[in-house]
Parts: sequence; structure tokens; C-alpha cells
Amino acid sequence: MPVSIENIVSLCKRRGFVYPGSEIYGGLANSWDYGPLGVELKNNIKQMWWKRFVHRRDDMVGIDAALVMNTKVWEASGHLKEFKDPLVECKKCHKRFRADDLKKDNCPDCGEKNAFDEAKDFNLMLKTHLGPMEDSASAVYFRPETAQSMFVDFKNVVSTTRKTLPFGIAQIGKAFRNEITPGNFIFRTREFEQMEIEYFIREDDWQKYFEHWRKEMMSWMEDIGIDLKYIHELEVPAESRAHYSKRTIDFEYDFPFGKKELYGLAYRTDFDLRSHDKFSGENLKYKDQQTNEEFWPHVIEPTWGVDRSVLAVLCSAYSEEGERKFLKLTPQLAPYKAAVFPLMANKDEIVDTAQKIYKDLRKEFMVAWDDRGNVGKRYYSQDEIGTPYCITIDYQTLEDKTVTVRDRDTARQERIAVGDLVDYISKRIS
Ligand code: ATP
Repeated sequence: MPVSIENIVSLCKRRGFVYPGSEIYGGLANSWDYGPLGVELKNNIKQMWWKRFVHRRDDMVGIDAALVMNTKVWEASGHLKEFKDPLVECKKCHKRFRADDLKKDNCPDCGEKNAFDEAKDFNLMLKTHLGPMEDSASAVYFRPETAQSMFVDFKNVVSTTRKTLPFGIAQIGKAFRNEITPGNFIFRTREFEQMEIEYFIREDDWQKYFEHWRKEMMSWMEDIGIDLKYIHELEVPAESRAHYSKRTIDFEYDFPFGKKELYGLAYRTDFDLRSHDKFSGENLKYKDQQTNEEFWPHVIEPTWGVDRSVLAVLCSAYSEEGERKFLKLTPQLAPYKAAVFPLMANKDEIVDTAQKIYKDLRKEFMVAWDDRGNVGKRYYSQDEIGTPYCITIDYQTLEDKTVTVRDRDTARQERIAVGDLVDYISKRIS
């Protein structure tokens, strides 16, 4: 992987993709804010996902559920008991680590030898209180995954839609985990976003749909511009799988700081529906309308981290060719689809024509305007943020209504009629 994480962090800060959170107050450890370009990139990823997996499929519906749920949800799901990491503390410097991250018994921070006692279980759920009393009765948890609301809302979804098995419920939203060792920029934070699908099936079909989602996930990664040679599938062994899973594959990516989990795919069996049925007393079985057979559907869960997607997309897109630095973002994900430049900022006719083109294009896509410095500097600036097309309005535009369109990746320029611009760009960004 050619790019260093320092290059990515510095580009993100400099150009407004991602800033340190609460920076004017000295920051808040491992919290990050998406800036004007970051929010566009992130939204584009989420929209592309929603379109592909919800709008374009007959067997999928979406929800957007509350972040704080009834505490019984976490009893039923097993999170209160099982969602924990092994925590160790250095005897000398008192820094805390996840025991399974450590290769030796030496403290990675102060170097103390035999620094750790036995690991303690640390629950990763983030606790808060609802209402004015901070007592145990008001204690609640932020969801550590979006998944549980798809099970909790299962009955409502089945009764309000006409979906029959197999079908999926999708959701994009925030999740919270009190991670022991957050870090590596936006890779591991305590507040993050997930895109998840719970795909409900008959038990006998689980292998078939596991395979289906495995292929879908691969094809998604290709579509967002990730080179599959940097993706590695890890078959998670039984002892490392979550308590509900009978099979899990992690899709690992070669991040600049090492090979780490990007996405996951799990076969959750009927664990969740069965358990929520028991804890809530509601009948969460699915009834086959033809055979009248009743059963808890089994579930295949593909899960995608949004922030890890942003990071993997940026790392994959970062390119250098000689002096030229550019983000080779797939045009669908680029924050700006095009930038419009008047060749000279002090020639009214050129500026007015360019403004008109800019305003017309802005009705269709996100378009940038730049009239600073010379055209070379403007190209440099747009390349760095991944704008696929730069449009320059010059004297010839006034005569024959054509403009130059310059392609980010090849740096080639061609003359296009102003009237064809929307079509030209639309074709290349969809
Ligand atoms: P890890 O092993 O890295 O802690 P996990 O196996 O606990 O991850 P899952 O529970 O499978 O992760 O969560 C699904 C997805 O959510 C992950 O594949 C990842 O993309 C994302 N994710 C999980 N934890 C975080 C986090 N702390 N910060 C950012 N994204 C995360």
C-alpha cells in the first residue's frame, strides 16, 4: 500500500474531509468530525449503498431506528453478558490495553517487562441515563450495533409490508462502543456508523445466501474503487466468533497501518429472533401463508462500517504520478463531480458565461467554482480532492459555445459543446 496514514490524515485536515473533534478545546481523544468534503464523500457512500441494496432490490426494506433502546433488548441479544473485550493495565504506567492486541507481556507504552496481571472482562456498551435521575433505574445503553432494531422491529415490518421469505431489513446509522484502544484515525472510534442488513431466510438455505452476500460484498468493494488484491477473507475460527454466530468471514483490507477488518459477514442462525421472542413474550415467528408453517427465520448478516469505508476509499484513491497528486475516486463518490473555471477572472464576458454554466450544472450535480490563480493551480487543487472533470471557459467559448473538459485521471482535455455538458458528465458519474 503506497500511501501512509500521515498523508491521508493531513490531506483530510487540509482540504476539509475530516477534522479532529472538539479541536479548539484541545480535542476529545479519538473523536473526529467530517468537514464539508468529508460529509459529501460519506453521504455518497451511504446513498450508493442504499440505492444498490434497498431501492434496487425487491427483497429489501429499510428502517431508521432509535439509538437508545430498552435495556431488555441487550439482555435478550446477549450484549450485556457477552459483549466484552479482555482488559489489562500496565502495573507501572497504568495505561490500559486490549489483551488480545498484545503480542508480549511487555507494555507497548513504557516498556515495562511482565507488566500485566490477568485480563479482566470489560463491557463495551456505552452507558448513559435518560431523564433527570442518574440512578440505576434510568441507566440505558447506546446501541453497539444497528442490527438489534431489525430484530426488534421484525414483527412490525412483516405486518406492514408484504415481504415474504427470503427478505432483508437494512439500516444505516450510528453505533457506540466504549473501545479500550480506539485509534488509527477513523478506523476505530467510540462513535461510528454502520450499514447493516439482516437477511431473513429458511434454515436450509443458509449456505446459499451466505454465498450470495459474500459475492455482493465483493462486488460492492470493487464498485467503490477498492482493488480486490488488497482484500483478504478471513474465516473466523469458532473460538473467536461472536456468541450468536455459526459462521463468520471478516473482509480484511491492507490499511496503511496493517491488515485489519473492513467488513464482516455472519450467519446469526435464529438466535436473535428466538431470544427476543423469549424475553419480550411476543410471538416473533414467521408464518408461511401457503403452508401455515410457523418458525423463527434464520439470518445472514452482512455488515459494513461507514467510516472504515471512507478510510479504505481514500487510501485506495490516493495516487501520485511524478509531481501530480490526485484522488482517483470513482466519480459516483467524488464530493464534486465537476469544477468550473473562467480562464481569466478579470474578463467580465468570460466570467459571466462561466457563472451561467456553473449555475446550470449546479442544478444537476455538486459543482465547484474556482477563479483563483492560474488554471494549473486550480487543476492541482481539484485533483487533490478527486474532482473528476474540470471545465474551463475561454475566448473560444464566446465564439462557438464550446469548453475544454479535462479528465482528472488522464489529464487529457477535449472540447465539448456547452449544451452537451450535463449529458457528458451524467454518463460518466452514474
Ligand atoms: P473489530 O474486530 O475491528 O473490533 P468487530 O468484529 O467488533 O470489529 P463488528 O461487530 O463485526 O466489528 O462490526 C461491524 C462493522 O462495524 C465492522 O466490520 C467495522 O467496519 C465497523 N466497526 C466496528 N467497530 C468499529 C469502531 N470501533 N469504529 C469504527 N468502525 C467500527
